[in-house]
Amino acid sequence: MYAQPSGGLEGTPRGEEAQALLRNCVHCGFCLPACPTYRITGNELDSPRGRIYLIKQVVEGAEPTATTRHHLDRCLTCRACETACPSGVEYGRLIDLGRALVEERAPRPPLERAMRRGLTSLLSRPALFGLLVRLGQAVRGWLPAALRTRIPARELSPVSAPSAPLAARRVVLLEGCVQPGLRPAINLAAARVLERIGIGVERVKGEQCCGALGHHLGHATPAHEQMRRNVAACSAALDAGAEAIVSTASACGLMVKDYGRLLAHDPEYAARARRVSEATRDLAELIPPADLERASTARGRGPRVAWQAPCTLQHGQRIGGRVEALLAAAGCVLTSTREARLCCGSAGTYSLLQPELSGELRRRKLAALLDDTPQVIATANIGCLEHLRGASPVPVHHWIEIVAEQLDPARLG
Ligand code: SF4
Ligand code: SF4
Repeated sequence: MYAQPSGGLEGTPRGEEAQALLRNCVHCGFCLPACPTYRITGNELDSPRGRIYLIKQVVEGAEPTATTRHHLDRCLTCRACETACPSGVEYGRLIDLGRALVEERAPRPPLERAMRRGLTSLLSRPALFGLLVRLGQAVRGWLPAALRTRIPARELSPVSAPSAPLAARRVVLLEGCVQPGLRPAINLAAARVLERIGIGVERVKGEQCCGALGHHLGHATPAHEQMRRNVAACSAALDAGAEAIVSTASACGLMVKDYGRLLAHDPEYAARARRVSEATRDLAELIPPADLERASTARGRGPRVAWQAPCTLQHGQRIGGRVEALLAAAGCVLTSTREARLCCGSAGTYSLLQPELSGELRRRKLAALLDDTPQVIATANIGCLEHLRGASPVPVHHWIEIVAEQLDPARLG
């Protein structure tokens, strides 16, 4: 799909990047059956190939229309098309580039723009978001069902954080934005499991939203500012001896792993961003299954768990299989599921901005996960967790909470 950049993109790094990315697509269509939105609507413009065609038109100077925006908005950025593509098309980079171009060349109506910016801003402020969650929890019983299902019940027996790290090995555990307000037990469980295998955790001062929320909505400038501040904070921790940057949210971990590429043209931050990305690990990459096997008290007697691999883990970070090994090592019984590659419909702000497609995907995903009568669903990203929990008849947890319980049921209640 050869593209000739135009409309001010010719001869620019962005134009060259777009041209190189578009060139790899040979229109074969192998990606279509992998695409959740195409599977629901059957419309070629809701498929990866159709969206790539729309982006090519914009790169070549065509004015984006309402149709262009509509079909790009409906993409989940799940990247299932990337792992299905035999030609190695980096669709995730293309859709981010295309969205940013459309935002610049055909700005949305002011109300819609304000709503999207307000949403990103609220979700990336942990203190404000946490306060609203607590208020919502206080009046949860009186709320209409549609709103009530979006607010998790308050965790009744919060566990305390481990004492100051005494371990020789130390990692930075990123707090995240919405997770501390919705599920504070996740990072506490991660800290306990890491402590158990001899790794202490520390927090960094000045942590910001990883930037994923704004980046995927085409708001590059504020997102890059958040990334730069995280790079500065994490670099200082690495200088002081931390061996890795760790996130319990696979979407945030994926974003931080991409800082090096995204800030490559920033002379002040490029080298530090690359170093931070290279040091970033998903939690599942840090824990050896053998350590869990040794520490588990319930070998083979643990709960029946249905595993839901977030797209950011399997298609983005491409580390499928690791969590399953850890759950099994901790004594859990993994149930069989269908549709392992299908997005659950959460996708950052997608469940709020595209409720119909998102709801249909959740219905399909839950049906596939519940096939083999699990006692609990495990996942690795707060967005997927809360989205599935809103309609699941069985509890939904982060996998590290289940592992922590297997290792130390008395302490974790
Ligand atoms: S599978 Fe890859 S090369 Fe084929 S149409 Fe899809 S993106 Fe293009
Ligand atoms: S990222 Fe997901 S929703 Fe978007 S085109 Fe690819 S497969 Fe379809």
